[in-house]
Amino acid sequence: DPCCAAPLPVLGRDVTVPLVTGGEVTYAALDYAASAPALQRVWDDVAAYAPYYGSVHRGAGYLSQLSTDLFENSRVTVAEFLGCREDDQVVFTRSTTDSLNLLAAALPADCQVFVFETEHHASLLPWRDARVTYLNAPRTPDQAVATLERALADRDPYGPALVCVTGASNVTGELWPVKELAAAAHAHGARIVLDAAQLAPHHPVSISELDVDWVAFSGHKLYAPFGSGVLAGRSDWLRAAEPYLAGGGASRKVARRSDGGVDVEWHDTAARHEAGSPNVIGVYSIASACKALTEAGFDELVARERHLIAKVREGLADVPAVKVLSLFGDDAPRVGVISFVVEGWNSSHFAAALSAEYGIGVRDGLFCAHPLVRTLLGSDPQTQGECGAPEAAPGEKSLNAIRVSFGAGTPDEHVERFVRAVK
Ligand code: PMP
Repeated sequence: DPCCAAPLPVLGRDVTVPLVTGGEVTYAALDYAASAPALQRVWDDVAAYAPYYGSVHRGAGYLSQLSTDLFENSRVTVAEFLGCREDDQVVFTRSTTDSLNLLAAALPADCQVFVFETEHHASLLPWRDARVTYLNAPRTPDQAVATLERALADRDPYGPALVCVTGASNVTGELWPVKELAAAAHAHGARIVLDAAQLAPHHPVSISELDVDWVAFSGHKLYAPFGSGVLAGRSDWLRAAEPYLAGGGASRKVARRSDGGVDVEWHDTAARHEAGSPNVIGVYSIASACKALTEAGFDELVARERHLIAKVREGLADVPAVKVLSLFGDDAPRVGVISFVVEGWNSSHFAAALSAEYGIGVRDGLFCAHPLVRTLLGSDPQTQGECGAPEAAPGEKSLNAIRVSFGAGTPDEHVERFVRAVK
């Protein structure tokens, strides 16, 4: 298509899978929102480095020094990718879930937290030990801002407060008005953390431009392998907090006290929250992915993704039994994440059939966002529904949904096969 660049080379493009109908077909990975395939470029960078890796921050040997440089340079690359401010810290974690739990553990005393009920569980649940206010699902982006404004206006104006919001929904793919929510938070003296797990793989995310206080994302959704994530942003709360994990690397000085105890001086850099031997391969692969996406250009990536979204939306619109789920309305801007139900079909059976008969990998269930999916399906807040659980009986409302998601490595043929299969 002349409007778009070619998809980026990713691993697994030539993998074939058996079909129940006989024969085999190349696998169409359409579950990028769960985990995206690694970019070939990331894999090549890691393979080139792997023979040389050594312990980070620990060894005097050449390879240890090389690995330490690579690790610390990766921090600089990620800071640049995220448009960090001078005083921001980039902390390497295991995942978005880990990053948000780290921040939750670093909240100042008596912090109030505001979070929409529509969040992924990773951004909904870590705050349960704080004074948390769950905000009702908004039906427009403006309503989201108004709802937050109202809640913040009622808060204790002298205590610390944090808003947690997802930039792009892992269920509907819809974009949230992050800049406006950040402005509302700051106008009321609150801070804001952006869950960019779904946004960062699809759009540029700049901490300084969005004016958010922290950003969290995962490597395995950003075309790097599993096992590493990022929490980047303001250093003051992180420096003041107890280390997320106690151990080597986080401590500057440890000494026995005369009373028999142990005194510890903790680092006040990012190392404070990175105790233990760091995952240098995971961190390097995140930096490599950041570079690869920047070089490919987000304008190109967004244009290509729009083209794929249009193909899927138009294809699904031709099938009257398909209902696409949306909080903000059909025309709301979104990334390549689309959930739907098919009237008369059990969503789990439907997803299984896409795999078994067409070699297409999608996801079914409630996508770790149970309150949101139940709102979108209009089901009772207490009803069951999850992967593998009993689904609605024929003729009843579906309890689960099907999600198709794609990105920088997706060829047209994959979404075309998907549309054909649904039809
Ligand atoms: N937030 C969102 C919006 C997500 O989609 C996900 C993953 N599905 C997470 C957080 C959690 O990411 P991870 O499993 O990598 O910790």
